[in-house]
Amino acid sequence: MSLESTDGNKMTLSSKILIYMMVGLATGVIINLYAKESAFAQKYLVDGLFYILGQVFIESLKMLVVPLVFCSLIGGIVGMNDLKALGRTSGKSMALFMFTTIVAISFGLFLAVSLGIGEGFDISVNSAAVDFTVSEAPAFSQVMIGIIPSNILGAMADGKMLQVIAACVFLGIAIIKAGEKGKGIAQGISNFNHVIMDLVNIVMSMAPFGVFCLIASTFAKQGLEAAIPMMGYFLTAAAALLLHFMGTFSGLFLAAGLNPIRFIMKMRSVVLFAFSSASSNATIPVTMLAVEERLGVDSSVASFVVPLGATINMNGTAIMQGVATVFIANVYGIELSGADYLTVIGMSVLASVGTAGIPGVGLIMLAMVFAQVGLPVEGIALIIGVDRLLDMLRTAVNVTGDAATCCIVAKTEGKLNLDIYNDPNAGAVDAYENVLEGVGGIGAKQENKDA
Ligand code: ASP
Repeated sequence: MSLESTDGNKMTLSSKILIYMMVGLATGVIINLYAKESAFAQKYLVDGLFYILGQVFIESLKMLVVPLVFCSLIGGIVGMNDLKALGRTSGKSMALFMFTTIVAISFGLFLAVSLGIGEGFDISVNSAAVDFTVSEAPAFSQVMIGIIPSNILGAMADGKMLQVIAACVFLGIAIIKAGEKGKGIAQGISNFNHVIMDLVNIVMSMAPFGVFCLIASTFAKQGLEAAIPMMGYFLTAAAALLLHFMGTFSGLFLAAGLNPIRFIMKMRSVVLFAFSSASSNATIPVTMLAVEERLGVDSSVASFVVPLGATINMNGTAIMQGVATVFIANVYGIELSGADYLTVIGMSVLASVGTAGIPGVGLIMLAMVFAQVGLPVEGIALIIGVDRLLDMLRTAVNVTGDAATCCIVAKTEGKLNLDIYNDPNAGAVDAYENVLEGVGGIGAKQENKDA
């Protein structure tokens, strides 16, 4: 099996996923159009086979996240063996995460204001009766304190990624400081990393079928008709996502002296996973494989930046918040001031730090933003119908932002292998099989380093 095989006869994993995704989409739409009332299709296919297998796939990916982050992040920090480099890497990543999020939301706001979306929208015809309750926006102090786990195992068990990352950074630093005595632990963690990579390989072999089931069940439930009355909102958000994906990231790559087309082409499988799962967190194993194997980022940078980005960096979600704010303000005829726009930008940056990259979380963040600027939170009921579709799109942009930051930070730190980055076929020959055979891939790289 290969992530992107160059072998003309062998179908690549990403081509396979794409085909299964298309078939899943067609299956879902057909069921939605012609078998909505069929108890058999709904009970045994949509809520049965598709739902169960899709969730089994997502849960299997999620099962990998904490052990993968734990092993590779500690391994990366110990491998770096340089606390100053660690400080620089985290400073640069945070700065880029924040910068791209601010650009993203400003862009969403600008596009939506220019197009005047939501003006003249007839709320009496289109309103849906959905209750949406607001969660409290996390206070800045709480976000800061919440980064430190009072119980490391508890943080792992609950999948609290910021806390897991903080614990791994502390443990990695302590292992370096322990010198000789820490070496045995570092070796054990590196060995465990190999085992986890084998597990990644096993889970990835289910990917095409898992993606088929996820997409088929989503579209069988949703159909496409929910998007029709909301076309203006949906298309503006989708266009802003696409422009940010192609434009902002390309600009950053050009500024860093890297070819943006290479990056975009090599992100295909990650984008497909993110789209199908609507979860940046569940996509972490796939993103890490791609940035290391296909794009040449050193594992010491990838293992830190990717999970951190999946948790706190949400460019796509920020865009949706910008567009949704303007849409709802126009629908309800509420004028927003310059200060309100700044509040929206600040809130969405803060909210993305405190919330995990899981499906639908963008709406919870949106409710916090609305409450802050005095927009009616019940307005969210209007956009909820198209949110799953947008969630898939914005998650693809979210993970692309994580990977982009990862490559650029690695480039500035001299931790990007340009031969791998510029080689269209690098990592194309089966990353997963190589891991299993121990002749390449993340596991083998670690082994070489250990040697
Ligand atoms: N589903 C998104 C993610 O996982 C978050 C969101 O916008 O709802 O990145």
